[in-house]
Amino acid sequence: MKKLRPIDISVILPVFNEAENLDNCQKSIAKTLENICSAYEILYVNDGSTDDSLDIIKQLAKKNNSVKYLDLSRNFGQQAAISAGLEYCSGNRIVIMDADMQDPPELIAEMNQKMDEGFDVVYGKRKTRKGESFLKKFTARLFYRLLARITNVKIPMDTGDFRMISRKVADILKKMPERDRFIRGQVAWIGFKQTYVSYEREGRKKGRSAWSYKQMIRFAIDGITSFSDFPLRFATFLGIIVSFVSFILILWALYQRFIAHSYVQGWTSLILSVLFLGGVQLLSLGIIGEYISRIGSNVRRRPRYVINEKNTETEDETLDEQPSDE
Ligand code: UDP
Ligand code: MG
Repeated sequence: MKKLRPIDISVILPVFNEAENLDNCQKSIAKTLENICSAYEILYVNDGSTDDSLDIIKQLAKKNNSVKYLDLSRNFGQQAAISAGLEYCSGNRIVIMDADMQDPPELIAEMNQKMDEGFDVVYGKRKTRKGESFLKKFTARLFYRLLARITNVKIPMDTGDFRMISRKVADILKKMPERDRFIRGQVAWIGFKQTYVSYEREGRKKGRSAWSYKQMIRFAIDGITSFSDFPLRFATFLGIIVSFVSFILILWALYQRFIAHSYVQGWTSLILSVLFLGGVQLLSLGIIGEYISRIGSNVRRRPRYVINEKNTETEDETLDEQPSDE
């Protein structure tokens, strides 16, 4: 591995109320990294934790000067926290992983080996997911399959954000302008040589998942609307079908009225069609609204996150002029 940047591997860890996991996490990641590279950094992004995660991170930083941290001004969500980490990390290779020990640090060695073979992205593919409810596993499975069917980008199935990426990919990812991030999709979109290593996903060591179902639905909608226009086109498709059926029904109604002369009640069919059309219209409006809200948030151009405190510099201010790792 050629060394243009002083740091070989950066590990980015979004942290939201992980106080109980941080010590273990730090220990096992540091152990793995010491074996595979000479200079590393572990960058914790505190995403507005309400427990003492930040204090623990600061203590870790005192003990080990490879520990870096960013403290966001409030909870911005995992994807924003990772984006912040990407902006401030300086390694030649970058690992994104969870701080709850669900992603085994030992896998980093395997990922690093694949990178040596010339890959630009090595993602962790979950063979199994332990300690998660049936409903979560089921909805996740369903979501990744649906996403695969309606997008043109090959977003790998059953993967999270646990992955190692090259500096080249990270720099492109940083330049992608969208506000609502769906990092696993964006990395797939970028391309280059990608591969995976599979692993058994353990349950959380401590604490509980901070993702509520509401957030997961939000995240799923971000994934779909940023990578597929299918729902928009589906609205049109639905409109065509409904109009066609209505047209037949209208012909039939006219026939009944003027030729067969058997036009009584009519109330049922009237109310049914009103309800049905109302539903279809609301659905279509909702879909359009989703896309418009994306446009809105992209036009507003608000920062994705706000940093309160950090012990690291934007490396790219100093390293921009250097040739890339080619
Ligand atoms: N996380 C975060 N901000 C949030 C929610 C989660 O930074 O608003 C972090 C969390 O600390 C963990 C990672 O994102 O390191 C994954 O979160 P979690 O374990 O809750 O998700 P799951 O594993 O259930 O998908
Ligand atoms: Mg987790």
